[in-house]
Amino acid sequence: MSLRLIRSRRLRPAVVLGALAGLAATAVARPPSFAPWIDGTAAREPDMQVQAIDPDTFVLRQSVRTNFEAPFLYLLFGTDRALLLDSGAGGLAVRPTVDRLVVRWRQRHGGRPVHLVVAHSHGHGDHHAGDAEFEDRPDTEVVGLRPEQVAAFFQVADWPRGTGRYDLGGRVLAVVPTPGHEPAHIMVYDPRTQLLLSGDMLYPGRLYVPVSRFAEFRDSAARLAAFAATHPIRALLGAHIEMTTTPGQDFPMQAATHPHEHPLPLPPSAIAELLAATEHAGPAPTIDRHRDFILYPRPASLGPSSAISASQPAWSSPSNRPGDGLSRSSTPSSRPSATIGTTSSDADAASQAIWPGKACTSVTSCVVRVAAAVPHTPRPNGMRMHAALPWNGPSTSSSPTAR
Ligand SMILES: [Zn+2]
Repeated sequence: MSLRLIRSRRLRPAVVLGALAGLAATAVARPPSFAPWIDGTAAREPDMQVQAIDPDTFVLRQSVRTNFEAPFLYLLFGTDRALLLDSGAGGLAVRPTVDRLVVRWRQRHGGRPVHLVVAHSHGHGDHHAGDAEFEDRPDTEVVGLRPEQVAAFFQVADWPRGTGRYDLGGRVLAVVPTPGHEPAHIMVYDPRTQLLLSGDMLYPGRLYVPVSRFAEFRDSAARLAAFAATHPIRALLGAHIEMTTTPGQDFPMQAATHPHEHPLPLPPSAIAELLAATEHAGPAPTIDRHRDFILYPRPASLGPSSAISASQPAWSSPSNRPGDGLSRSSTPSSRPSATIGTTSSDADAASQAIWPGKACTSVTSCVVRVAAAVPHTPRPNGMRMHAALPWNGPSTSSSPTAR
């Protein structure tokens, strides 16, 4: 946490001290380690890739070839219910993969019924395009996209100041309202894994914020910091990756491939860094480039429709995610030799890849097929950038962008 943040008059001392305590509480936690994600660079790749963090927690990545947004979806199981957070950006069938994971989970639990809840990090089109696939699915409910619908479902009494909860059965999730990027945006915290599913508010990429909602976004960042002060957070897992492994460097907008992607997890220190960035943004916030994310205020003059082109099938909703066409994207420069993915043996053992619609007969065969389809470059030095991330303390990264 920077001195500038501590000096900020907007922050109460208790929040600052709490944030520091929260960071300290995460000192022993390590982020999950993933095998390399599909990134569009191979000759062939599956429409969707799945990696398991544990037997009840799955991360699904949509291929950038099906939609340039290449979002991440999350599937969490409790003893009675499962939560699918986001249903994709369109351009593929999501339900077969989800059904396969549910079937397999049930097989491991004596055929126990699983009620599926499809909810969303927020209401932009690249996060709910697959909802229709689930509307007629048995024992399934799809949560609405409006803030009042989200608040009602997750029992948020005082949106956005309150914190909601949802019990999957022996696994009670906390739901943190974080409007700003979009009015119904939430983050989902899982005490079991100590993971915070951070949606589009905080991920390694361009954090779009309409200027007209910047104050709301900043308030959400402050509440998020307060939440982090009282909850151990192992890592943040967001909904996209738009940063490269070169610090501060993003992919071009609508990039067809994502070579050398930044790792998916962000350290909990990113919360304090984001809050500090919002505090320093002032009344006319501008693009603020950090090592692991770019705070990206969106001019109020740009309505959602102006950011949508016919070539963007995912943005079918009037509440689409803004951003493209906003201007400055940057082309990644020379790449470091390191790329994503440390190779923790624990995580690798737990990792599973599924190739929907490709006659996947077993997890093992699917893993083999994906591995064959997505060759990886050697990483003799491991994941340099990941190793440098300040998991156990305040971030020291700075913004090369003039404030
Ligand atoms: Zn998104």
